[in-house]
Amino acid sequence: MPSSTRWRAPGRVNLIGEHTDYNDGFVLPLAIPHGCTAEAVRTDETELVVSSAQKDQPARFGLADLRPDPGAGWAGYVAGVVRALQHNGTQVPGLRISVDSDVPPGSGLSSSAALTCSVATAVDDLLELGLDRGQLLAVTRSAENDFVGAPTGGMDQLASLNCTAGHALFCDMRSLRSDQVPLDLAGEGLVLLVIDTRAEHRHSDGEYGRRRQGCERAAAELGVPALRDVTDLDAALTRLEDEELRRYVRHVLTENQRVLDAVRLLRDKRVRDIGALLSGSHASLRDDYRVSAPELDVAVESAEGSGALGARMTGGGFGGAAIALVGQDDVGAVTDAVTAAFAARGFTAPRTFSVLPSEGAHRLP
Ligand code: ADP
Ligand code: MG
Repeated sequence: MPSSTRWRAPGRVNLIGEHTDYNDGFVLPLAIPHGCTAEAVRTDETELVVSSAQKDQPARFGLADLRPDPGAGWAGYVAGVVRALQHNGTQVPGLRISVDSDVPPGSGLSSSAALTCSVATAVDDLLELGLDRGQLLAVTRSAENDFVGAPTGGMDQLASLNCTAGHALFCDMRSLRSDQVPLDLAGEGLVLLVIDTRAEHRHSDGEYGRRRQGCERAAAELGVPALRDVTDLDAALTRLEDEELRRYVRHVLTENQRVLDAVRLLRDKRVRDIGALLSGSHASLRDDYRVSAPELDVAVESAEGSGALGARMTGGGFGGAAIALVGQDDVGAVTDAVTAAFAARGFTAPRTFSVLPSEGAHRLP
């Protein structure tokens, strides 16, 4: 049995498929090179000691009475993993877990999934539990949902655990099944430019709840379990009276279709052609679902206007990050255009970086 293990798990961006997850629909995330490294070491104590290179103080938890605690802050993500393992019947010995991450937190790149997935895989390996990816998904989701109290839908953890380099991950959020889809950006001379707008997620909790409830109401009115099950958009739009619900339904159904279209294009090696789908996704999120923000719209418009093949907000919206599909040679021009557009509007300068589809959770030597 090893006395210590080290695993790294990545953050992710969602290429397309936004606000479809809680409608039992489709998403297409990819792992980014940024990630979290977790080292797990066995100790003789009855404690869990958690430290982060990004935090000043370590946190300590008694293993005998680990309870869900939204007040535990950042260390709760780690303790939540351990508690979920205990809940599954694992006798967890004393552990020291140290993490170090270069995923910027709170930008919609899923630093939290990088954290929980690196910890879960490191502890699974250390204790030789032999959990499969589905079990690891349940453990990491439980850490966020049950311990921290963050209502995440599972895409982030699915991506961080299962993505592979050079691929996006086509996920069915009803069955939680996932499939690798080739995304050879480098071979096509392309990169995905991430534009972290650094705009805070304004009113995102209340607005998110409103969208989610609206979708549930629309599904109930249409007599289906989830909007994923609506097959005829026109008929659905005729049946719904509420203008807001009609917009939500149009976004969710067209977005699911855009994910399926993107998967087909990628399987046909027509990577450049997904640009138009990205831009279509943004327009739908801005005009129908109404979850964009001025910073996201400016990022998308200035990227599109300076040579990007397509661009969209990614993540829940109201702030956070946008992505643009860009030729390697155009990265400088697009970055400059976005930066200048932000300055002209008086926005905080954005943070931009290029990513290629990277490896999911993996062991380090
Ligand atoms: P996102 O996952 O989009 O980055 P979340 O709000 O879901 O945003 O998760 C961010 C939280 O995850 C941080 O506020 C912090 O509590 C925790 N976190 C992420 N990375 C680290 C880290 N390296 N060290 C400590 N806590 C971290
Ligand atoms: Mg998160």
